[in-house]
Amino acid sequence: MQLDAKIPSGPIQDKWDKHRFELKLVNPANKRKYDIIVVGTGLAGGAAAATLAELGYNVKNFCIQDSPRRAHSIAAQGGINAAKNYQNDGDSIWRLFYDTVKGGDFRAREANVYRLAQVSRNIIDQGVAQGIPFAREYGGQLANRSFGGAQVSRTFYARGQTGQQLLLGAYASLSRQIAAGKVKMYSRREMLDLVLVGGKARGIVTRNLVNGEIETYAGHAVVLATGGYGNVFFLSTNAMNCNVNASYRCYRRGAFFGNPCYTQIHPTCIPVHGDYQSKLTLMSESLRNDGRVWVPKKAGDKRAPGEIPESERFYYLEEKYPSFGNLVPRDVASRNAKEQCDQGRGVGETGLAVYLDFRDAIDRDGRDVIAKKYGNLFQMYEKITAQDPYQVPMMIYPAVHYTMGGLWVDYNLMTTVPGLFAAGECNFSDHGANRLGASALMQGLADGYFVIPYTVGGYLAGESHEAVATDHPAFNDAVGQVSDRINKLMSINGKRTVDDFHKKLGHILWEYCGMARNNDGLDKARNMIQELRAEFWENARVPGETDNVNQSLEKAGRVADFLEFAELMVIDARHRQESCGGHFNEAFQTDEGEALRDDDNFCYAAAWEDRGPGEDPVLHKEPLEFEHVKLTQRSYK
Ligand SMILES: Cc1cc2nc3c(=O)[nH]c(=O)nc-3n(C[C@H](O)[C@H](O)[C@H](O)COP(=O)(O)OP(=O)(O)OC[C@H]3O[C@@H](n4cnc5c(N)ncnc54)[C@H](O)[C@@H]3O)c2cc1C
Repeated sequence: MQLDAKIPSGPIQDKWDKHRFELKLVNPANKRKYDIIVVGTGLAGGAAAATLAELGYNVKNFCIQDSPRRAHSIAAQGGINAAKNYQNDGDSIWRLFYDTVKGGDFRAREANVYRLAQVSRNIIDQGVAQGIPFAREYGGQLANRSFGGAQVSRTFYARGQTGQQLLLGAYASLSRQIAAGKVKMYSRREMLDLVLVGGKARGIVTRNLVNGEIETYAGHAVVLATGGYGNVFFLSTNAMNCNVNASYRCYRRGAFFGNPCYTQIHPTCIPVHGDYQSKLTLMSESLRNDGRVWVPKKAGDKRAPGEIPESERFYYLEEKYPSFGNLVPRDVASRNAKEQCDQGRGVGETGLAVYLDFRDAIDRDGRDVIAKKYGNLFQMYEKITAQDPYQVPMMIYPAVHYTMGGLWVDYNLMTTVPGLFAAGECNFSDHGANRLGASALMQGLADGYFVIPYTVGGYLAGESHEAVATDHPAFNDAVGQVSDRINKLMSINGKRTVDDFHKKLGHILWEYCGMARNNDGLDKARNMIQELRAEFWENARVPGETDNVNQSLEKAGRVADFLEFAELMVIDARHRQESCGGHFNEAFQTDEGEALRDDDNFCYAAAWEDRGPGEDPVLHKEPLEFEHVKLTQRSYK
């Protein structure tokens, strides 16, 4: 199959307008004849479902949680980028576009990134109209702060709860459509398979998480907005039920998977503190606006931070990257933290932490100002660590946070399966090999509010669609396969808990496919994953029943998919013989230890095609062409 990104022709700044004009329209009276399935109620799914319904389509919307507003997007803290230039500090659509392409280490599609920067402005207007309480300045103008990889302030925020406020906005719009009867909401449902009829996506199979029933739903198109797969590492900042199920099952049905090895490791998280931990907590990147990152200059220095004089502190980011300082992009900040710890300068009991210090900011601006900006984050830190960050520096360490990989999509956000769209973190996204902070919320809402509603319409109007209901044999087949898999999980009857397998898988990935990778390690990891997977199907223990609430069964299904998907991540990492963004192969680095790309051989998005169990996936390449941003060695000095 030849990959076609369907990038419109013409000047980059006109592509989206031109494309919207050229897309066929569904006339208002006909929209009500179409059923659209939207899986996910986070920012991407919630926004898409509400907007499609507002346009007149019949929407069936699904989520795992008991309420759409409990999607993982609610956890987002620091903010959302938009090229409004309210600060008059030189921002523009072009600059946001440029920063994002560069921040992603030149592994994203220019046309998509430009569109993202364009519609970023509409998102803020939409949010304000919904009543989102964005922070404001004294004069009433919306306030901004800075995030990594940018020298302008373009991040809009609502204290440290931006995701929650944005999600409440989307949820309010969604609720209106639920009340109007245009959205039928199915919560506590887990999508376990995609149904294809005539090669097109025409429905899904779900498990009702309350009574265990296997259900089927038909539609004319399916929009997947099921979030990221960072939990494959077991420990991550993601919500506990984030998974890869839905996108992996779509991959198994023919949707290509893009750049699965691109994982974002966030530099500022509360460090791991023990073997029994199941979750990590993010300390928002916004804190690096005022917090200064440092370690003791002397390796092995175990003095308390207050006892280390200024002259013996190493502000390594400020010294190495004077232009961006503490606000270098996440991949750069994470690698540097690891480097300091590897060289023995890490702090805390484990030596796997660096300081994030607000002393100077508090002296300069006063405690009240700092509390206004970050109060809830400081409170969260204190609750978890029992240390007061107003008095002592925070201790932070990198942790898995976001996945840039996802289902490969074209300019219309359609996967390689006709009629199957992917939006938000579950697509392979506009962020290339590294996502800049505050860009995920922007992308999720851009996809959901401003891209999907047009492109789904274009798809529906562009072709004829046979009438398909859930009594079609394709649904029976899919239900049979889902039931067999559930029964197989329930009958393993082994001795080892599913969590134990998950934890082991996480260790393998963190060690060999984490912040730094090398070929030997990746080869080893692939074997280890295969062995672990074989043992899982022999020895996992899944208690409970199928026809009831059974969180062990839910988890087992997710871990079973993680165990398959992890191998794809490793295959992708192993094939990419370069370093770029979040993918750092130790063999490819500059003299200064930065990621060294190989543009001659790897300037493409990798899209993997499934060939069934036991077969190696097939690599397809989407060449990336850079007409507007010059390919250079990324520098933040
Ligand atoms: C702690 C934290 C802080 C963050 N802060 C920021 C920030 O400040 N700025 C920023 O830009 N980004 C931030 N991010 C990233 C950002 O929050 C996410 O990338 C984004 O919210 C993802 O939105 P989404 O709509 O794609 O998916 P999600 O919000 O993850 O929603 C996924 C939806 O899919 C549903 N779902 C999943 N699987 C299935 C299935 N199999 N069947 C049925 N339903 C399913 C879920 O129930 C849910 O409704 C942060 C991330 C974390 C972890």
